[in-house]
Amino acid sequence: MSGKGNPKRSSSGSSRPKRSKTASAPRPSSGKKGKNSKGGGKGIFITALCLVIFAVMLLIGKPMTMTEIQDMLGVGDSIAADTAGGSSFDFAVHYLDVGQGDSELIIAGGCSVLIDAGEREYGTAVLKAIKDLGVEKLDYIIATHPHSDHIGGMAEVIENMDVGKMIVPKVPSELTPTSAAYERMLKAVKKKGLKLTQAKAGDTYTVGNAEMTILGPIGSNYEDLNDFSVVCKVKYKDTSFLFTGDASFPSEDDMTASDEDLSADVLKVGHHGSTTSSGRGILAAVQPSVCVISCGAGNSYGHPHEKALNRIRKYTDKIYRTDLDGAISIFSDGSKLYIRTANGSDNE
Ligand SMILES: [Zn+2]
Repeated sequence: MSGKGNPKRSSSGSSRPKRSKTASAPRPSSGKKGKNSKGGGKGIFITALCLVIFAVMLLIGKPMTMTEIQDMLGVGDSIAADTAGGSSFDFAVHYLDVGQGDSELIIAGGCSVLIDAGEREYGTAVLKAIKDLGVEKLDYIIATHPHSDHIGGMAEVIENMDVGKMIVPKVPSELTPTSAAYERMLKAVKKKGLKLTQAKAGDTYTVGNAEMTILGPIGSNYEDLNDFSVVCKVKYKDTSFLFTGDASFPSEDDMTASDEDLSADVLKVGHHGSTTSSGRGILAAVQPSVCVISCGAGNSYGHPHEKALNRIRKYTDKIYRTDLDGAISIFSDGSKLYIRTANGSDNE
């Protein structure tokens, strides 16, 4: 489930050394950080609805917690770290808290890109976060690779949003899944009349005031579907952000052997911090000053792995994690980064 209700990490803010490109995020003048602050009448109605569902679940012998029901209804706290304070910035990346999965929303000068949408049960919350952040149209959707923790919630997003272009990797037929999540996404794509654009390393897209470059996948015969993950870099003035999906060593090695400039200020760490990603080669090429790991609290995979963390720590100890920090929002003014997290291990 989500990382909500995790204990706050007491030392996360103060223990991090200052870096040149980060600074304190100015507090929004109007307070709220996207927490649930619904009016009385609506709140009572939702509570009643939750109780009815809870009673039905008890009757059919499949009890759910109230939090699970709220998640199901999408009425819990926002999964975005910031829904109020980022409007003064022309560029923001929101690393949404989708538990053990991935979902990032880039907002650049009025344009937007959604990279992945978490597991199916997060579809409603991802959609809500997109709308809470004021996005009415997704100019681009990138479905990094067809695993359910990345595309599970995608069908709901596609069905309920205007979508410009949808970018996906070219996956060999023997690795193409026949999962329900993949089928659902394709069905939504078809129903919407969307055409899928295959990711091609070297392609560039203008996203408002930023530029997005596809860096991977480069190879076409990886054994692991994760290595077909679309990897892209988004550059806004002097700041840049790299998104690596679940790419692991074989894909990382192909990218570091290419001529592309992989350097980035912020790295979305590959494969939820798995030990088979974030190799020395790619870290040396990226030289990240901030890393973000998207993983679920107490996940059964042991993500993030200590070996990966140790390799990353050689470059930075500014490591943000959705399992500890909740959702993470990083704003850029073109030269400096401003970081805010849902759990309050704010900025810097
Ligand atoms: Zn994954």
